[in-house]
Amino acid sequence: MNLDHMYESMGISPRVLGFAKDIETGLKDRFEAIDGRAEYNQLKVVKAMQDNRVSDIHFAATTGYGYNDLGRDTLEQVFAGVFGTESALVRPQLISGTHALHIALSGNLRPGDELLSPNGKPYDTLEEVIGIRESTGSLKEYGVSYRQVDLKEDGTFDFAGIEKAIHEKTKLMTIQRSKGYAARPTFSVEQIGELIAFAKKIKPDLICMVDNCYGEFVETIEPSEVGADMVVGSLIKNPGGGLAPIGGYIAGRRDCIDRASFRLSAPGLGREVGASLGLNQSFYQGLFLSPTVVAGALKGAVFAANLYERLGFLVVPGGREERHDIIQSITFGSPEGVIAFCQGIQAAAPVDSFVTPEPWDMPGYDAPVIMAAGAFVQGSSIELSADAPIKPPYAVYFQGGLTWYHAKLGILMSLQKLWEKGLCSLPDQY
Ligand SMILES: *Cc1c(COP(=O)(O)O)cnc(C)c1O
Repeated sequence: MNLDHMYESMGISPRVLGFAKDIETGLKDRFEAIDGRAEYNQLKVVKAMQDNRVSDIHFAATTGYGYNDLGRDTLEQVFAGVFGTESALVRPQLISGTHALHIALSGNLRPGDELLSPNGKPYDTLEEVIGIRESTGSLKEYGVSYRQVDLKEDGTFDFAGIEKAIHEKTKLMTIQRSKGYAARPTFSVEQIGELIAFAKKIKPDLICMVDNCYGEFVETIEPSEVGADMVVGSLIKNPGGGLAPIGGYIAGRRDCIDRASFRLSAPGLGREVGASLGLNQSFYQGLFLSPTVVAGALKGAVFAANLYERLGFLVVPGGREERHDIIQSITFGSPEGVIAFCQGIQAAAPVDSFVTPEPWDMPGYDAPVIMAAGAFVQGSSIELSADAPIKPPYAVYFQGGLTWYHAKLGILMSLQKLWEKGLCSLPDQY
């Protein structure tokens, strides 16, 4: 069977395939650039592993308190090497990205301090961590105040507003690299560096933290290389490479990471405790694969952007735009469009391909939400996944794909579903 027949046997019609082939042919240069960055980042990861003399002894499981967990301590040095920082915490006890951000914030803020967001409202789950929405145990309950400066109309930082917002109590600035599920551009590492330099000129001891979720290995430098005191993320996104079954990381300046460690375990214990159980090999191997996994996800995002843009849908980022994270949004303008898209992504999954996702009233959301995820790790969004709130403008957010070929299949399947339901038409020549 040749490749076209193989796609056909999976339900992709020749017309959809023909159209997609022409889109893909036009992306050679983009894909080459993505591969170039992956190659660089692969070397960066291997070098950090070699510099720290990673050996199979580091894959051994530890239990109980986890004193002298050599694998854990070395892994943290490897992460510090990759991110160019003095120190790092990389733990299965950091349950998720939100938890890692919470530990980084609450470890470094004290009553009377103020937290500043220079990019408007932060990621949804941080609203309750900070206390923007009333929440038990929030930073607000502990006497940490919060201020935000909204982005300017064009999506750039409001430097004048930020200068005015920084005062004597401003202790920490939290910068969100990825747009997440907001309608604004994602920041490049260079832009983040400019902001940090600006803020530190006003207040040299301001702690600058970057929510690095979805951004790792998209560029060849990380925010910690342009002045960030801490970078924080989830291991079931980019840097876990699809193999980490749980976990988060905080990398940065030694004093900041130490304070976070005393919050994660207990004052006096800090980083000395916390068994890695049997997870170290997955963490090392996931980090090792991460640059190429991220490259696959990026190719999927660029392919989808160009394919759906060509069909007349609004896509963010645009097909030709430079990428700074792995998230792609596509606006379909109708509930049927986002539902068909998500059902296509699900139908292409290696796990649970036989289930049909439907919108449901998820707690904490003001509209029904549909989610497509056929993942090996629950909630993993470095694996091909999509979700959309069923409300105008009816945009779907999708990300991930452990391999480019799987991301491609998912996107072809989504287009197939939309086309079969008459929700889009293919150009005449196909
Ligand atoms: C995913 C994400 C988070 C939260 O991570 P979870 O692991 O889902 O808790 C925070 N910020 C951004 C920008 C994210 O994309």
